[in-house]
Parts: sequence; structure tokens; C-alpha cells
Amino acid sequence: MAENLRFQGKVTGARLTRTADWWFVSIQVEMPDEKPDPGPSAVGIDVGLNRLATLSTSEGCENQAFLKTALKKLRQANKRLHRRVQGSKNREQARRQVARLHYRITCLRDDVLHKLTTRLANCYGIVGIEDLNLKGLLKNRRLSRSFSDAALGKLLTLLTSKVETRGGQVIKMERFFPSSQLCHCCGWRWKDMALSDRVFLCQNEACAYFHFPQDRDHNAALNMLSEALRLIGLLDQAVDGIGSDDDVNSAVDLT
Ligand SMILES: [Zn+2]
Repeated sequence: MAENLRFQGKVTGARLTRTADWWFVSIQVEMPDEKPDPGPSAVGIDVGLNRLATLSTSEGCENQAFLKTALKKLRQANKRLHRRVQGSKNREQARRQVARLHYRITCLRDDVLHKLTTRLANCYGIVGIEDLNLKGLLKNRRLSRSFSDAALGKLLTLLTSKVETRGGQVIKMERFFPSSQLCHCCGWRWKDMALSDRVFLCQNEACAYFHFPQDRDHNAALNMLSEALRLIGLLDQAVDGIGSDDDVNSAVDLT
């Protein structure tokens, strides 16, 4: 294979690696630091299992659950592996097949995560998102496979690093911020909302959204956006020493 270098700069090294029977060459190139501008606006993101990410703009990114889809194939391959005689050539071949399947799942998942986080980081300079209690979630046996399949932790890590290299800010909500339970419009709190309640119904008669069915995740994303802006407002106040009681919500577009 021959290919032109896709980057302008001085090549400082190369490394060959092999993962699941695929060979890779990573080429290190020295390049000047680039500081791309952070995206102009702010967004709130609700991450979850039903939809991988729901934005406060009501855009969504479906959870494609790659492991779940590939699980049948993976089970077959694992069964085959364990039927083979230890130390035999056939067993080695079966082992490689299992490794290739695992690697394929990882690649598919990473692809989705990278595309989503790059797009978000390019569009938004301020991102409000939940700080997930991943360890606690993984302990829930019924949900743990779906959670690790969706790789929510990786989503958070990638997003934070991409937003920050562009000079933006990721605001992580406290774990106990009840983003799903509050009406984004009036702040009325639905205390006994269950995980199975997919639609939020505000019970505050004075609210514009009174009894108006709101998508649970979208409502949560909107709450995350206003909370992020509130926190940033507090930060700015602390830095500037000026109080600003302006409606922060009206300043969503920060261009
Ligand atoms: Zn309301």
C-alpha cells in the first residue's frame, strides 16, 4: 500500500500494531497547535439507553446496541471455541474469530461515538450533561450489559476532551440534579416519576406546558441546558464580580 501523508508536518515516528488479525501503522506527525473556535451555542444533552443522546434541540441519536445485535453470533462463536480441543489448530482459528467479532463491535461503537462527539463539539461551545454514576449503574445486573454496550462513559470522556480542545466547556450536572423530574418550563417537580414514565406531564395549572405531553429525555435535556447556563452564569459572576440577573435562558445563542 502507498498513500500520501494526509497531514502537513514532520514525521517523527511510526508504530506497527496488530489487533484481532488486523495490522495497523500509526504515523506520528509534528504539527503546529491549532485552536479551533468553540461552537457558538449551548446545548443540554440527556444520555440514556432508549436513545443514546437526546439534545435540547430535540435532535436525537439512537442507541444502536451493537453488542446486543452481535450477541447471537458471539455466543455461537464462543460455543464453537469451547468445543474445540485445547491446543489444536481449529481452536486457535475459533479463538481468532471470537476476537475479530469483539473487535468489530468495538469499532462500530467507537465510530458512532466519535462522529456524534465531533459533531457536538463543532456545534456547541457549552455542553450541559449529566455526570453519570457509572459504577452504580453497572451494578444493576438487569441494565448493566446495555449500559456497557452503549459505552456512556466513553461518550462523556470523548465529548469532554473534544469540547475542551476547541476551547469550549462541558458542565457536568451533579449526580442528584433531578433533570428528568422537573418541568423545563416552570420547574414543577414530579417526585415519584418512574423510569418507565416516558412522557412528562406538568401538573402546574399556571404552566404553559400544563398536561402537555413532553418527551421525557427532551425535557431532561432542556433542564440540563438551563442548569448549565445557570452554573456558567454563577461562574462568570464570581469571575467578574458583577451580578447579572438577566434571564440566562434568553442568552442561549452566544454568538
Ligand atoms: Zn410546567
